[in-house]
Amino acid sequence: MSPALVVGVDVGGTNIEAGLVRPDHQVLGRRKAATPAGGPDAVLDTIEMLVGTLGGDPVAVGVGVPGVVHGGEVLTVPNLPGWIRPIDLATELTKRLDLPVALGNDANVGLLGEWVAGSAAGAENVLGVWLGTGVGGGLILGGQPFTGVHGAAGEIGHVLIRADGALCHCGRRGCVEAYAGRRAMEHTVGVMVGAGCVTSLHEIRDRYGKARLTSKVWARALAQDDPLAVEVFAAAVEAIGIGVANAVVLTDVDTVVVGGGLAEKLGQGLADRIATAAQPWLLARHARLRFIAAALGDDSGVVGAAALARRSGSC
Ligand SMILES: [Zn+2]
Repeated sequence: MSPALVVGVDVGGTNIEAGLVRPDHQVLGRRKAATPAGGPDAVLDTIEMLVGTLGGDPVAVGVGVPGVVHGGEVLTVPNLPGWIRPIDLATELTKRLDLPVALGNDANVGLLGEWVAGSAAGAENVLGVWLGTGVGGGLILGGQPFTGVHGAAGEIGHVLIRADGALCHCGRRGCVEAYAGRRAMEHTVGVMVGAGCVTSLHEIRDRYGKARLTSKVWARALAQDDPLAVEVFAAAVEAIGIGVANAVVLTDVDTVVVGGGLAEKLGQGLADRIATAAQPWLLARHARLRFIAAALGDDSGVVGAAALARRSGSC
């Protein structure tokens, strides 16, 4: 009998990626589509289409979404348009696909992927920091994924690092994400350019045909030592370092995995910079703490979503 295949789906702000995943976490086939702006129903249509075109007779589906997930429901999705009330996504998708569906937060699921098959494989206590439009996070504690009472654990992006600091997308002030998310960094660049600063970031963005300052645009500007990009990015790394140090002091994890679009482009060099930024705020007892870049790239979400589905059922 052929091994049971599971579909992992990673719903991002730009694209929805789906992959057919074997029990050994190898991805056999992939499909992706632009994330529709029409709200939950349009996203459900796209997931249904992607799962259908993958074929392979899967036995379950796992889905990572960029929001707070609890008990199969998506409670809030701040980065996607039209998600204004909690949605029972697992039940809706189960009806459409006639398959068991497991649901998780995208950064939690990305960390799960790195934990089962990537750079955090074998670690017992891990903090995941996912750098994208916002800053996501996840925790593995005592050899188990830890999502908290409301599914909201590991939100390193909303750890406060400065009382009455910069305004965050969550409505509070001084969060890590208010300095380190791509959305916040792009806003800062806009303000600085308005004040007379010069940067190649927008020219690079236009040359790549992008609408926003993507990870690829940032990586290029940093590679050519654009002064404004270097300055804004250094402030982001500093903010992440402080936030991560706070989380490490609280949890005493042994591994910090840095993932998401920026980590994919900047690799271990970014993880090393965050380690250096965190160092002054750690306690001496964290001497064995290691910082590593995610190893699966784009696949961490797909592999992690499939692993979530396997852990939720018996496949
Ligand atoms: Zn926040």
